[in-house]
Amino acid sequence: SQEMLQLTEKLSVAGQLAAGIAHEIRNPITAIKGFVQLMQSGMEDKKEYLDIMTSEIERIEQILSELLMLAKPQVSKFVRKDISLLLDQVVTLLSTQAILNDVEIVKDFEATMAFIECDENQIKQVFINYIKNAIDAMPSGGRLIIRTEKIDSKQMSISFCDNGVGMPEEVLAKLGQPFFTTKEKGTGLGFMISRKIIENHAGDVKIMSKVNNGTTIQVILPVEQGK
Ligand code: ADP
Repeated sequence: SQEMLQLTEKLSVAGQLAAGIAHEIRNPITAIKGFVQLMQSGMEDKKEYLDIMTSEIERIEQILSELLMLAKPQVSKFVRKDISLLLDQVVTLLSTQAILNDVEIVKDFEATMAFIECDENQIKQVFINYIKNAIDAMPSGGRLIIRTEKIDSKQMSISFCDNGVGMPEEVLAKLGQPFFTTKEKGTGLGFMISRKIIENHAGDVKIMSKVNNGTTIQVILPVEQGK
């Protein structure tokens, strides 16, 4: 029956995720175990091993903290927020990182205020993910344009447009699968979690990308009608 089919699908997604988590966490643990054994054998350069172990432990921490985002009660606190204000705060938070990477962030916000009903921390987390990804995509600097636009009386669009490396078909096809990353220190969880949060806010995410040209991530969210 339809219900049975849905149940099986859900279990297999959970199973897939569990297998991914186990794999991602086993790798750094195996590495740490190896270095502990080397250090037990003595005469080794302990400082270097401790540094590697610390970075592997940090990797596990990062994976776990991103996974906990998924486990949190979905959309806990819905409050009315001015979207420009939220974006301003996130941009300020990441401005040092942008400057260090020679990335100029341009804010192209619609003049009239637009409000959304959102869980502030979750929505900020989504914007942080997209901005960080854009910065990562411009290793020798570039420009990120953040644009807000009203689509109609019910919806608005927030787009993150970078002129970075872009994504080939095979990356686009896998984007959003848990643990898919092309980065050495990536977790491959950002896109999946961001999409889930946007969907929990009755919104949608669209991706446009061209290799060597750049990427635009467009978030569509329902707007709060003026009260
Ligand atoms: P992570 O950032 O940890 O790798 P994500 O799920 O956020 O995880 O992203 C998955 C992959 O999608 C990245 O490793 C990168 O290859 C690609 N990607 C995401 N955003 C962009 C972007 N703006 N430009 C180019 N590639 C991107």
